[in-house]
Amino acid sequence: MSGERRISRRHTLRAVGAVGTMAWMDSRTHGTELVPAQPPTAVRVHPAIAERVWQTPLIDTHEHLPEERDRLSGAPHPAIKADDWSLLLSHYLNSDLLVAGMSQADYDRFFAPTVDPLDKWQYLAPYWPAVKNTGYGRAVQIALQQLYDVVELSSATVAQVQAGYEATRRPGFYREILCERARIESCQVDAGPFRKSAMPTLLMADINFVGMIAGPNFEGYGKPSGIEVRTLSDWHRVIDWWYDQYGQYAVATKSAHAYARDINYERVPAEAVEAIFSKRLAGDRLTPAEQRSLEDHLFWYAVDKATELQLPIKLHTGYYASHNLMPLDRLRRNPGSAAELCGRAPQSRFVFMHIGYPYYEEMIALAKQYTNAYIDMCWSWIINPVASKDFLKKFLVCAPSNKILPFGGDYIPVEPVVGHAWMARQGIALALSELVEERWMSLADALDLVDPIMHGNARRLFRLEEKTRLLQHVPWS
Ligand SMILES: [Zn+2]
Repeated sequence: MSGERRISRRHTLRAVGAVGTMAWMDSRTHGTELVPAQPPTAVRVHPAIAERVWQTPLIDTHEHLPEERDRLSGAPHPAIKADDWSLLLSHYLNSDLLVAGMSQADYDRFFAPTVDPLDKWQYLAPYWPAVKNTGYGRAVQIALQQLYDVVELSSATVAQVQAGYEATRRPGFYREILCERARIESCQVDAGPFRKSAMPTLLMADINFVGMIAGPNFEGYGKPSGIEVRTLSDWHRVIDWWYDQYGQYAVATKSAHAYARDINYERVPAEAVEAIFSKRLAGDRLTPAEQRSLEDHLFWYAVDKATELQLPIKLHTGYYASHNLMPLDRLRRNPGSAAELCGRAPQSRFVFMHIGYPYYEEMIALAKQYTNAYIDMCWSWIINPVASKDFLKKFLVCAPSNKILPFGGDYIPVEPVVGHAWMARQGIALALSELVEERWMSLADALDLVDPIMHGNARRLFRLEEKTRLLQHVPWS
């Protein structure tokens, strides 16, 4: 972004306080940069809250972003098919497209690297009206507007979108999009067991521990450690190696094992699973009960190790990415199982991700009850923006406000993060404004909550000041 444009943005922000939200969100008054749409007339955002929320830096507690240099070089990535504007729709709007009825053949053409980007609109057009207003669609629309100045995606604007995509995707675009546009202070990226980023203070990393417990993943986790694995205690040493090697540089440890089972891990002693581990190592099939006991044991081994290193434990809960596969009955049990985890390990700090959507009321109760339960709203604003606004509003009058983390883009492509961050800001501003309007809190108290929830909580929970100092001198850069 040019300096001139940055200044005009600041002017716009100042204007928010002066003229009020309705005018602020009105694109005819203030141009299109900050203003993706007309608000419904019932919406009232307090101008002082809007101004504060838009000026305050946000910490992004969850992303899957590849390295910028890999985006620029076109390095192979399992989720990146074409290096063109379709990439903005490839995660997660692609799922909404299939659910809306797009055929697999059209889907493949739309995301293909071999189809001319300017010919792709024809495949999207029949489904765009059905998906453009979902949270996934909305984040893309806002990104198109903010990054490429395209107000409405159509056959007439596809060329402008593709030109914008190419002009934006250049060295430095991660900082431009994340820091300048979305005003994000730092991101926490889940990419592989641990990624040594070339931008370690911006793209901070989690240690992903799912491969330590599910499978386990001898190749992906065992091999890099150089430890020859013959027994369960060797595998314990592999787990130790990851945390000893990278724990000081990681901000947290993360598992999305809830895609495969409930998070109802029981403490199972090593003696009870030694033989099972050997059986697994020999390549024999485990019974479901054996697999479960082994996972339970390894989960706690990793969690206890991470806890020793003061790393918060992030666990996926609730909704599934993709489509036509989601055992809601099991997801419904996530909040209850989360409560069990908190009770079993009072010293561990658990971060339950995605508000357990759609079972989010339970997650408020969890954070209110347990000292060591934190709720992360990552991904949630684009799954269901209205539910997320309601969630935050209820959370702030029920659970202590230092237990909430309000934003994580959860994206592979960096571009739609700007749309997701915009939606989070809109939701935070709305939630606080409604609380003031309904007399649940004073305006002064609402304003006082902005700093802690948008960055204060994350800075403290993940010890970001200390981590930043360390990450300024990483051994791999
Ligand atoms: Zn994620």
